[in-house]
Amino acid sequence: MKIFESSSALQSWRRELTGRKIGFVPTMGALHEGHASLLERARSECDVVVLSIFVNPTQFNQTSDFEKYPKSWEADLKIAQEQMVDAIFFPKDQSEIYPDGFQYQITEKQLSKTLCGEFRPGHFDGVLTVVMKLFQLVKPTRAYFGEKDFQQLALIEGMVKAFFLDVLIIPCPTIRETSGLALSSRNQRLNADDKALAPKLHQIIMQFEDIRDASRELDEAGFKVEYLVDQQIAGKSRRLVAAWLGEVRLIDNVAH
Ligand code: AMP
Repeated sequence: MKIFESSSALQSWRRELTGRKIGFVPTMGALHEGHASLLERARSECDVVVLSIFVNPTQFNQTSDFEKYPKSWEADLKIAQEQMVDAIFFPKDQSEIYPDGFQYQITEKQLSKTLCGEFRPGHFDGVLTVVMKLFQLVKPTRAYFGEKDFQQLALIEGMVKAFFLDVLIIPCPTIRETSGLALSSRNQRLNADDKALAPKLHQIIMQFEDIRDASRELDEAGFKVEYLVDQQIAGKSRRLVAAWLGEVRLIDNVAH
């Protein structure tokens, strides 16, 4: 398994890979079974699997969230090996991705301003910009994204269309604990009490038909709800939620 810490080394390697089907899984590390499911799918469909691990500073609107983002390089390496990843792109510093100091950006003006974008201004500019840069470096045939981040997935699909990017986006289902809690790197930051409470997020949005009832139940259970909506997104009917438990922000969505 190759590990590239610089963009130029990754590009040189990629230039030699002509005519191969390249599967790409971009992540921020602290890998779990959700990430592993994307890698597994990529491995089953592609000749070469590339994983990127980069905690992207431009998509964090709170410095503390960025600084406290969990890191587990050794465990990530093990998961990558188990999933038979061919190459990991692990930029050694931010300038590998942002030689321009984030002067050039991708902005979407509609969907990205709603839901998570309303509460995290600039978040999706950071996401779309880093994904565009990673696509330029990796030049994947297919890229795998989780439905766990449904709005992100819809925006990336929109960007691919808008800029005629020659990559197929493969949506992958949300992997959950048996309790229903969607796996997330941020779950590691929940304290013991909140960890026990967290599965209620999924349970409650599944249980109540009326979002006002679900919202009240979440409130009573101890969540601070940012949004809970039933809406069409990328042509699909979803119920989407974001809520805080203590200092941790959780998101989830289900078909509705
Ligand atoms: P992250 O490292 O959180 O930025 O996520 C990297 C990729 O993994 C994104 O496409 C996520 O949607 C996806 N992902 C994260 N959690 C899950 C999950 N529980 N199930 C499926 N995909 C996930």
